[in-house]
Amino acid sequence: MYGLWRSERYSLFLILLVSLILARLTGNLLLAFSVSSVIYLGHHLLHIKRLLQWLQKGQINQAPHATGIWEEIYYLIFKLRRRNRRRKKQLLRMLDRFRTATAALPDATVILGNRDEIDWFNDAAASLLNLRREDLGQPVTNLIRHPRFAAYIRQTQESATINMPSPVNDGIQLEIRIVPYGEDSRLLIAQDVTQLRFMERVRSDFVANVSHELRTPLTVLRGYVETLSDMDSEMPLPARYGKIFNRMEQQTARMQQLIDDLLALTRLESGEVQTPEPIDIPEMLQSLCEDFDQIPQSHARICLDIRTDKGILGNEADLRSAVSNLILNAIKYTPADGQIDVVWNVSDSEARIDIADNGPGIPREYIPRLTERFYRVDGIHAQTRPGTGLGLAIVKHALLRHDGELRIDSQLGKGSCFSCCFPASRVTKVP
Ligand code: ADP
Repeated sequence: MYGLWRSERYSLFLILLVSLILARLTGNLLLAFSVSSVIYLGHHLLHIKRLLQWLQKGQINQAPHATGIWEEIYYLIFKLRRRNRRRKKQLLRMLDRFRTATAALPDATVILGNRDEIDWFNDAAASLLNLRREDLGQPVTNLIRHPRFAAYIRQTQESATINMPSPVNDGIQLEIRIVPYGEDSRLLIAQDVTQLRFMERVRSDFVANVSHELRTPLTVLRGYVETLSDMDSEMPLPARYGKIFNRMEQQTARMQQLIDDLLALTRLESGEVQTPEPIDIPEMLQSLCEDFDQIPQSHARICLDIRTDKGILGNEADLRSAVSNLILNAIKYTPADGQIDVVWNVSDSEARIDIADNGPGIPREYIPRLTERFYRVDGIHAQTRPGTGLGLAIVKHALLRHDGELRIDSQLGKGSCFSCCFPASRVTKVP
């Protein structure tokens, strides 16, 4: 580069020299300098013109022929254009690969613009959501008209999903998720979960049927065991038989509880969602706490704190069962001299029923698994307390049916707080 500038300087110097010789020969300095400047400028203007023509034609390879500084300029531009062309090709290849990959995805994928208009979709979206090329640019809500979808797209949260039938065929169940990305675009992903839902239904039907079938023989068995135990008062049995009957009674009662819990869980999981009704939460909590106070054994003190007279839209039996499960757990795991606080409060964003105790608490690592069926905290307190391990799973499903969630906060040795949280949209005035 430096060499080129030097040769350019030589050319300039040569022109100046020729101008001086011309001036000497003609005796006219101005004329001599004007002539040589015009030649010099003309040379550069000619190359600028060639450069423009070359750039306009867009042909990379046919760079104008030149020497000196212009040869270098043409070469550098040529290199730049060649690199750009390679990059463009690479990007096109990548785009092509991406298109082929997304087209092969079994899940429907739709890119939505800032007004929820369809920017792009893959083949699966065409077949699962009934989208066609001419729908590009149309708002997605004009094409997918299910009311659940319309509500979801308006208030979508990143992690939430909805289930709805496919617009093509009611028999196909779709799970839809909308993920925001970039500045203001969103990605709609719809997965065909028909088979999964079918398997879930088979499983819950099986559990429900087995539980149902076990109920009758178990009731008979329990009756006999009770009769045998009662015989003890009329015709005293050897002490070890008394103990055996006692254990048998306990175990049949436990099996009955298990079956009742399993049936309750199946009903919550797969039962039809009923039309929500206003539930008087203050009244419900009041009556629950009074019921628990009637328990004959001594247990921790229950303190009720009602901070609002609002209620919740939902199903009273489900909520009553969820809250009573939580209060029962608190009673079960808190020592008799402890305290259980039941608080009902509503804020701008949510409504909560907190059930806090100062019992043994739960180690942090166990908390995420507590709502799994049959999960009981190992070795800490479950072995010493009767239970099925289904209580919190029932609570979770009852709350899900109210668009709510169960939050668990606990500190080992200090106590636990189980919160039933509901969205503000569920809060209502109690008639
Ligand atoms: P269980 O029938 O064992 O009580 P749950 O599903 O109701 O089943 O609870 C699961 C586990 O969570 C319990 O086994 C217990 O270890 C723990 N747990 C629930 N509530 C409390 C509480 N208030 N304090 C401490 N541990 C609790």
